[in-house]
Amino acid sequence: MTNGSGTEIWRTRYAHPCAWDQQFPPLAMTELFAQATAEKGDAPLVDFFGRLYSYKTLMAEARCFAAGLQAMGVTKGDRLGLYLPNVPVYIPAYFGAMMAGATVVNFSPLYTAHELEAQVEDSGTKIIVTLDVPALQPTALEVLKSSSLEKLIIARLEHMLPFVQSIGIRLFRRSDIMAIPQQDGVIEWRQALVDKTPEPVAIDPLTDLALLQYTGGTTGTPKGAMLTHQNLSANARQVVAIDPHRGERDMIVGVLPFFHVFANACVLNRTIHDGGCIAMLPRFQSGQALKTLARARATAMPGVPTMYQALLDHPDLPKTDFSSLRVCVSGGAPLPAPLKQQFEAATGAKLIEGYGLTETSGVATSNPYEGDERPGTIGHPLPGTRLALLDKEDPTRWAPAGEPGELVVLGPQVMLGYWNRPEAAASAFADIDGERWLRTGDIAVIEADGFTRIVDRSKDMIAVGGFKVFPSQLEAVILQNPAIKEALVIGVSDSYRGEVPRAFVTLQDEAQDGADALKAWVNDRLGKHERVDSVVIRGSLPKTMVGKLDRKALREEVAAEG
Ligand code: AMP
Repeated sequence: MTNGSGTEIWRTRYAHPCAWDQQFPPLAMTELFAQATAEKGDAPLVDFFGRLYSYKTLMAEARCFAAGLQAMGVTKGDRLGLYLPNVPVYIPAYFGAMMAGATVVNFSPLYTAHELEAQVEDSGTKIIVTLDVPALQPTALEVLKSSSLEKLIIARLEHMLPFVQSIGIRLFRRSDIMAIPQQDGVIEWRQALVDKTPEPVAIDPLTDLALLQYTGGTTGTPKGAMLTHQNLSANARQVVAIDPHRGERDMIVGVLPFFHVFANACVLNRTIHDGGCIAMLPRFQSGQALKTLARARATAMPGVPTMYQALLDHPDLPKTDFSSLRVCVSGGAPLPAPLKQQFEAATGAKLIEGYGLTETSGVATSNPYEGDERPGTIGHPLPGTRLALLDKEDPTRWAPAGEPGELVVLGPQVMLGYWNRPEAAASAFADIDGERWLRTGDIAVIEADGFTRIVDRSKDMIAVGGFKVFPSQLEAVILQNPAIKEALVIGVSDSYRGEVPRAFVTLQDEAQDGADALKAWVNDRLGKHERVDSVVIRGSLPKTMVGKLDRKALREEVAAEG
């Protein structure tokens, strides 16, 4: 199809069973889980270090949790937070909340108390489910005290791993497991379950929110993407086109964190849709992931590029049995071509690249498992999805034919908007010809046959492996150093993580601090993935016409310096 300015708007080329205009009838996530359970019953949905949890068992627990939430007064539209790594209880907590009519809010287990508190307040979350481990429980208790959070439901890891002494992961050493304090507002998970049928709650899949998913968007200010039941269930059905053969016999390694949309769509929701099983891992460690792949006879493993690189670099790789592994889907950051080749040669499995955002409930495009793929591209739009390019200078117009432009997306997986931020939501969309296109902040070209290539980014985000880092947040930390007058952070390329942040600063007149001392000071205050590779001291930093620091000009300067 061509629009007025001649820009091709590509729809999907996927053949059977999906077509570009495939419709995805409205479906609540609770219904998706109910249908899978009715069909699969005693079949396993989770394999947690060899312990199996069936569809039926997890559904029964979800129903008891929903009844428990209702007994606590939870009603439709309330927000229920999950501050959990990938552990079996995630599933009944997630679906139980939805059955009670609540909206799930995913909190990253890496959040500090400050970040958790800010998002609890922003989302109006009153109840959080977490785990009795040192990485989570103390932070959650702190936030219970300092915020308007009312209840903390703490699940016990030993109820999920009764026969495992230690699973060799620091986060979960058995000796680390904490006692749950007896205090107001703290409830042990099993005490929160009520053994009765929950009151049915009517859900409109098109308007009721299943998930509030926090993201920096294009600006870095964390905001909750409002994802409806239909957004999630449509994406679970759309991704089937990537690999239509995945089904009930598949074993998916669930090591991508469930709190992120990529795992939410490609691991959790899709596996349930297909009736498959998830070999869950609470945290990525390459040795552990290789062991799990072989032990569980895994057939698929969605991941970010750095995970595949880490598997390749692990000394156990040559002796790992990959004979069951069919397909790995890479997303979240560009997949380097040599990594794809080496991984495929070493494992015999296919490694294909897809693309998406929090705002698209996970996935918008992908190369297919079978047939045409083009390394270095993000493939074609998923069924029911359209892509187009906006003019880089004037986002009210389409990009001139054949030129790069800002990628925009239309489809049933695109969010409703941002929670309580109508202005941010308004600028996240471009209304053109009566349609509401999501602006991605990614600059792309669409090749003559529809393959799409991301060539740049108009947003300030830096993709460190699969983690997203926003310069403005790092600059705020750096400027707390009294020796530093001005700071700009940009992403520079890195052979392992794709990109890493680098700080460029000017110093106060009297300051004597060296670059290494500043780097140590800065990195001490940043999370692992946010750390800068260096601090470069400059006499001045580029500025815009109005005298604002100009990150874009600095990026161009550094690129020109090579
Ligand atoms: P998030 O909302 O955290 O999922 O981040 C979405 C962003 O990740 C996109 O807007 C892209 O900038 C980036 N991204 C995701 N997949 C890819 C990919 N295959 N290639 C390049 N960038 C990607």
